[in-house]
Amino acid sequence: TSVLRIREIVIAEINKKANEIRLLNEKLQAAYEELDTFSYTISHDLRTPLTSIKTYAELLLKNKSVDGNGVKMIERIVLGADKMNLLIREILHLARVGRSEIVFESIDMPEIIKEITTEVWSAFKADNAELILGQLYDLKSDRTMIAQVFTNLIGNAVKYSSMVDNPRIEITSHIEDDEIIYAVSDNGIGIDNRYYDRVFELFKRMDNVKNIDGTGVGLAIVKRIVERHDGRVWFESKLNSGSKFYIALKNR
Ligand code: ADP
Repeated sequence: TSVLRIREIVIAEINKKANEIRLLNEKLQAAYEELDTFSYTISHDLRTPLTSIKTYAELLLKNKSVDGNGVKMIERIVLGADKMNLLIREILHLARVGRSEIVFESIDMPEIIKEITTEVWSAFKADNAELILGQLYDLKSDRTMIAQVFTNLIGNAVKYSSMVDNPRIEITSHIEDDEIIYAVSDNGIGIDNRYYDRVFELFKRMDNVKNIDGTGVGLAIVKRIVERHDGRVWFESKLNSGSKFYIALKNR
């Protein structure tokens, strides 16, 4: 009987702990939801006044009575408004990931990657960057979210290799067990391995990109989308020689 009694106590203790973990998890989920709603609302509300700032600043630029010095100052205002706009857009994207339902659908990967690379190449005026496309396996997943993941990864690959002589971006995929693993690699400035664990943190940017525009939100979005799909994301990189980002998603 004493063995049975001990068994009962242990089981009761395990159940208690499991319950505590479940409650903590619920609290964490609620906190995430609150944070998403907060970021969503605030980014949304900031948009309207920001649009006025930009519109009126641009109107002032057309005003003949503004002298050269004034023009320079107003141009700074427009530039600042544009940067804020980008940041707001990215935070809205991040908040949306948490708030949207995942809709699984068949995605034609070669087609979607083609669309994205065309957009990215034109946004970064990357005419000199070489694009190598390997085999791209089709995927069953949320089209909008997956497009966002690849837009961010390919955008980074192009942006952070634009300073080398012959930028080269390669996108490939392969199947391993029950996963499809996609890789986006570049021969750009690379990432210092000391900061490996911090690269996916919100707003974190490395020291070697200080004079390149960016917000530090893109990879946080990638991580969140991939995690919502129960997938994995990681990278390999060498400072001054390039980076390779991987995402592994269930082959449904
Ligand atoms: P952003 O590019 O807007 O700064 P991200 O969240 O997309 O923000 O990336 C975070 C940081 O990770 C970047 O600021 C940069 O330091 C580093 N990084 C991301 N992708 C690359 C890449 N392909 N090559 C070099 N550094 C990168």
